[in-house]
Order: sequence, then structure tokens, then C-alpha cells
Amino acid sequence: MQRLILALDYGGTQLSAALVTPGAREWLDLARVPSPPAKDARYDYDTMLALARKLLNDRKPDAIGVSFGGPVDAARGLVILSHHVPGWENVPLRDQLQEEFGVPVAVENDANIAALGEWEFGAGRGCESLLYITVSTGVGGGWVLDGRIYHGADSMAGEIGHTIAQPPANSEARATLPLCPCGRYSCVESLACGPAIARDARERLIAEPDRGAKLRALAQGNLDAISAETVSRAANDGDELAQEVLHGAARALGFGIGTAITLMNPECVVIGGGVSKSGESWWRVVRESARANTLPQMRVNIVPAAFGDYAPLWGAVALAQTLTR
Ligand SMILES: [Zn+2]
Repeated sequence: MQRLILALDYGGTQLSAALVTPGAREWLDLARVPSPPAKDARYDYDTMLALARKLLNDRKPDAIGVSFGGPVDAARGLVILSHHVPGWENVPLRDQLQEEFGVPVAVENDANIAALGEWEFGAGRGCESLLYITVSTGVGGGWVLDGRIYHGADSMAGEIGHTIAQPPANSEARATLPLCPCGRYSCVESLACGPAIARDARERLIAEPDRGAKLRALAQGNLDAISAETVSRAANDGDELAQEVLHGAARALGFGIGTAITLMNPECVVIGGGVSKSGESWWRVVRESARANTLPQMRVNIVPAAFGDYAPLWGAVALAQTLTR
């Protein structure tokens, strides 16, 4: 009988399921459906179950790996909560799926599992230690140390997005810095994620009405239409205001990466997520900024992710494979 690994990804905007034979580098089958924001955990769970059953077509997998877009207690297989979908508070997802399918299941946070995916199959292959960072609507991160995900004492290791990139000089200066969703000021995420780039661009266009012509043209005069992607397109087309915005975000991210490199001296840093597609100048500034914030003897090996959206699914495969050994 054919051996099968089932990989599931409960993402913020999509539910994905994939089947693969152990050791293979291509999917046997893959299915994705949007996860509408107005739904709840029950909807996500049932929809994913239907996707998985359709792919399996009455076959039984050897093991199941699960990526979840939110905090997870991996040791207990427990979803702590979702920032997007209500009803996921303290859901024993591992045990539920184990009962459903009768095979071993492992559940991980999406950034951690994407780190494992890039380490096992992608841009971090052959590295002993790896920091994975995803830069999109937020900034997440995960560590693989000696071939295993490093969770930390509270399952929260790798939160590079919430390291401070720019401490305020005093309490008055603090008010001029961006507020992070975590409640603090000037986190890497609040300066470097996609929405932060768009917000900074909008504010500067309002403050400097004579600049940013290419960016304004791309937005067709509608500042609300500006996204990180618009900013990077204008920046790569020579718009100086867009370049200042994009490079400011890249500097903040690089600063955080430099701090992480100095603390942990990883062999490689892999960056994925939509903002990592911002072009060569973004990458150059990230690397320069990281280099400037670490010791000269330390390597600054920062590379693009191999898998994009599929990193969590490949990580789920890697994780499930550890259950079959
Ligand atoms: Zn924060």
C-alpha cells in the first residue's frame, strides 16, 4: 500500500490540504479554499475535514502534520487562539484529528513550521541553525536549532516582529512612534510589515504634497489604494519618496535581524512573505542594516525563502515525517 503524509494549513485567509508520499518533493494532490473572515472555528474545522477526506479518498495517511496561523502549545497539541477567527481558544486540535483519522498528528504554529519546511526542503537545507522570518501583514519568526524547532519556555520563541527597532528617547518622543498591535511602540512589525509601509507612504504623501509623483500615479490619486506592493513598485521605478519609505522599513527589519544574529549566531536567516518580494534594493538595505547591527566576525547570510505560501505545508510534511520514524 502507498504510504501517505497529510499536511494541513489553517492560514489566516486560506485553508489548505495536501498529500505527499514520504520523501517526495512534489504534492500528489493539493486543495485550497478561502477562509472567509466572518466564519468561526467550527467552520474552519469542518471545511478542512472535508478537504482532507476528499484528498484521501478513503485511504489512510501514515501521519498528519498541521500548521496553525496563531499561537500553539505544540507539546500539548493545543491551539491557544486565532487572531482572525473566533472560537479557536484552547482547542485540542491534535487530539481531535487523532480521533478523527486514527493516526499520529502534530500541530505547530505557522512561523515555526514554515521554518522547519524551509530547513528540511527549502532555502535552509544543510544549515545547522536557521531563523525564518515572514514579512507580510505582520512579522513572524521561528527558529530551527540542531534540526528541531526551538519553542522557548512559553512556546513563543522567534517573535522577532516584537523586538524593538527604535527605542524612544523619552516619553514625548514615544508618541511620534508607531503603536504595535502588541501594545508597545516601535516593534519591528510596526515599522516593517506591509500595512506599516502603506501607512508610512500615505502619511508622507500627505505631508509632502510635491513629492512621490510615481507613487501617486500608481495609486491613481487614491491614497487608500496604496499597499506595500504599490510602494515597492514605485520605489523600483525610481520614486524617491517610495524608496525612503521602503528602505526605512527594510532598515527596521534588518536592525531586528542583526539583534537576532548577535544573540544566536545562526548559520542562515530565511525571509519569506509578500514584503520579501519588494525587490533588490529592499534586500540590500535589509542585509546592510543587519550587518551594521551585528559583530563583524558573525556571518550575515540572509536569503529568500524557497516556498512562499507553501512553506507551512512543507513544514507540516517535515513534522509529520518525524512521527513515522
Ligand atoms: Zn509588537
